[in-house]
Amino acid sequence: MTALGELLVRRIAATGPITLADYMAECLLHPEHGYYSTRDPFGQAGDFTTAPEISQMFGELLGLCLAQYWLDLGSPPMVLAELGPGRGTLMADILRATRQVPGFHAAANVVLMEASPTLRTVQRKTLGTHPVTWIDRIEDLPQGPLFLVANEFFDALPIRQFRREPSGWSETMVGLKDGALSLGRAASTPFASLEHRLADTKPGDIVETCPTAAPIMDYIGNRIAEQGGGALIIDYGDWGSLGDTFQALQDHEFADPLAAPGRADLTAHVDFQALALAAGKLEHKFANQGAVLERLGITHRATALAQRLKGPARESHIAAHRRLTHPSEMGSLFKVLALYRPGTPPPPGLS
Ligand code: SAH
Repeated sequence: MTALGELLVRRIAATGPITLADYMAECLLHPEHGYYSTRDPFGQAGDFTTAPEISQMFGELLGLCLAQYWLDLGSPPMVLAELGPGRGTLMADILRATRQVPGFHAAANVVLMEASPTLRTVQRKTLGTHPVTWIDRIEDLPQGPLFLVANEFFDALPIRQFRREPSGWSETMVGLKDGALSLGRAASTPFASLEHRLADTKPGDIVETCPTAAPIMDYIGNRIAEQGGGALIIDYGDWGSLGDTFQALQDHEFADPLAAPGRADLTAHVDFQALALAAGKLEHKFANQGAVLERLGITHRATALAQRLKGPARESHIAAHRRLTHPSEMGSLFKVLALYRPGTPPPPGLS
């Protein structure tokens, strides 16, 4: 058992079982023992690899998409924000790809929302001397039109999980069995916030909610509706949540989420419908990552880059293109949700 595991066992023994959301929040962001607070989890040596770490093409194409959208909206001074930037690779690729777009860098106030001090240090290194500010909370974003991107951010936010019972819902809890962490269920009760799921579920079905996502999306929705801009949210998940998607990843393998608190990454699939509903003042488009990258021209870019490469570097570049776009890899599991102001066109690649 990890040090954090021991703390959690003591806490649960003293005050009773905790929700999955409390468990995830402790495991990911505990200041001393949390997964993101203590390490850089990305890449081959880490626990998982994200799209920007797979290929520079991901960030380049999203950068050109944002820049074209900024031009479409009249090139205003703006806030270019990223939520949960990891190593900072996506923002670095966005900035490199948009260097040739006249006025874009001068117009962009780059802001990163990052909870982990360890990863803030990595982001500073990746972004070199480019001026950047970090914020803790979405409400701290500076004013102005907002061009926002978030890749694999929402899947890291804590979820609550419920099973539908003949009357009400019973919540999945982390409790103790023989002194060890163990999943159990709270007594079934009605939940007003799950009323709308009675129509599309039956007893025995599992649904998940992400309590911290809604206020973030509500804020983004109001901001873009009032001041303009757009948001691109990329993650794995679906339209609506159904089934148990709570999972742990360690060394690129699925692991038992209770086995090593603070050492494994914990995630859940993103419910994009809930995100779009919470940003209710905005229009949205929703599409597979593979389709969006194709429409933004990934094949053209991949071919151009391949011409400069040989041998193993060329092989791995071709594999990366496939990994980002192919339906059997990330192409259809990962989705893009674009949010934009009513009365304006959607961002390129999402019409
Ligand atoms: N976008 C990156 C990293 C994804 S991992 C990539 O694609 O490679 C999730 C990121 O979100 C990490 O940087 C993590 O530290 C950050 N994060 C998780 N919860 C957060 C929160 N509540 N507030 C701000 N950042 C958070």
